[in-house]
Amino acid sequence: MPDEKFDCIVVGAGLAGLAAAYQMATDGLQVLVVEKAKVPGQKNVSGGRMYSHALAKLIPRFWEEAPVERAVTREGVTFMTRESAFSIDFESKKLGDLHNSYNVLRTKFDAWFSEKVAARGAMIIPGARIDRLHIEDGQVKGVIAGSDKLLADSVVLAEGANPLLAEQAGLKPPLKPHQTAVGVKEVIKLGADVINDRFRLGMDEGMAQVFVGAPTSGLPGGGFLYTNRDSVSLGIVMPIDSAMGFEHARDKRRQVPELVEDFRTHPYLAKLLRGGEVVEYSAHMVPEGGYRQVPKVLAHNGALLTGDSAGFVINAGLTFRGMDLAIESGRIAGVAVKRAKDKGDFTRGGLKEYERLLKQSFVLKDMKRFRNAPGFLSNPRMYTTYPEMISDLFETLFTVDGEKHLSRKEVRQVLMRHVSPVTLAMDALKGVRSL
Ligand SMILES: Cc1cc2nc3c(=O)[nH]c(=O)nc-3n(C[C@H](O)[C@H](O)[C@H](O)COP(=O)(O)OP(=O)(O)OC[C@H]3O[C@@H](n4cnc5c(N)ncnc54)[C@H](O)[C@@H]3O)c2cc1C
Repeated sequence: MPDEKFDCIVVGAGLAGLAAAYQMATDGLQVLVVEKAKVPGQKNVSGGRMYSHALAKLIPRFWEEAPVERAVTREGVTFMTRESAFSIDFESKKLGDLHNSYNVLRTKFDAWFSEKVAARGAMIIPGARIDRLHIEDGQVKGVIAGSDKLLADSVVLAEGANPLLAEQAGLKPPLKPHQTAVGVKEVIKLGADVINDRFRLGMDEGMAQVFVGAPTSGLPGGGFLYTNRDSVSLGIVMPIDSAMGFEHARDKRRQVPELVEDFRTHPYLAKLLRGGEVVEYSAHMVPEGGYRQVPKVLAHNGALLTGDSAGFVINAGLTFRGMDLAIESGRIAGVAVKRAKDKGDFTRGGLKEYERLLKQSFVLKDMKRFRNAPGFLSNPRMYTTYPEMISDLFETLFTVDGEKHLSRKEVRQVLMRHVSPVTLAMDALKGVRSL
């Protein structure tokens, strides 16, 4: 096999790599996917909610055969202090009918997707790590794994959030701490009926909930909860610099795993998760720098950057997306490689179509639209002042002792205990602008 030359070698059998391979194999290209995990998906971590639209382009109505967990029909946003929780709860059967998004467990999901890719004719080698790119005269011409040199006209880099090969070859600068977050996730086994009862869900209906404040001990970042068929994915994502206590640190002694433990045992969650057993624990990097962190050049001589490797992640507060962007960028990379092959030109000039198609797609349009979100989400008041203000306000509103008579002036005083009217108005404006 080392003597064989492929049209494309894909590094990484995550969603971006598998989507690229699926597209190219469907177009009849000779494709090799190399994955360092023993089974595709084994090392892939996601909170768990995948917006369906991108994969549905490649595999229409994929949810009828894929191992999806539940269709999300309930959305929650919860502001938490150590003792209290204020939630906005939205439920709509329509979200499920539209197949808008599904909670997934990547170990199962990626294994299924890789079988679909293999069925299209791509070759997948799991359990093999690519050590570096093979470059001749400035053109990427394959990859090197141990003593093996594998040749190809093009390489799709789908290495995920820590793209060492791309960085080593100078195709992208290393991420800085303020552009990177760490995500930690637990899967807690509960049983399908328990989940349906406690989260008020029907069969196959799912919940996606984000949390602000206490989960990250008042530091930038947030918590998430996704209901699977018979388990719950629970975790936090926080910027590396706040995780390391560089900035805004209130309690520098807390480590991220301890924060997840505190989150799981918070009074609000302890009741929902009572009797659950943690069956899986994982941690992973997330490129969270947004649009400004995406490299200007994504198509190089013989190589394309896709998914997390290109920084395609959007954290817009209410929505957190990387999977649909990974799939679409992979699919587009596949289209671009086919066009380069038709032209017989795998230089940057021939592969530049990738950048043009990305600009026309939701990938770069949505990244650009939410370009101000990272700035807004780095505001420390989001994680301390506002959850405490909301808690104070509702405790005041709901406390009846026969003595206090709540007037508009008193409500205003409660709010002003936490933040000035000007600061509140400015933060609200920035929030609207980041949408
Ligand atoms: C805690 C957490 C929660 C998240 N929640 C969500 C969510 O709810 N919704 C959402 O849309 N996104 C979420 N994301 C983001 C999402 O997981 C990523 O954006 C998405 O997985 C990116 O896909 P990818 O294919 O680019 O990378 P990955 O899925 O990371 O795949 C990269 C693959 O490359 C392989 N690889 C790397 N280097 C090599 C090498 N040298 N040789 C061979 N193989 C290699 C890896 O083993 C891996 O299989 C979350 C991320 C985290 C960490």
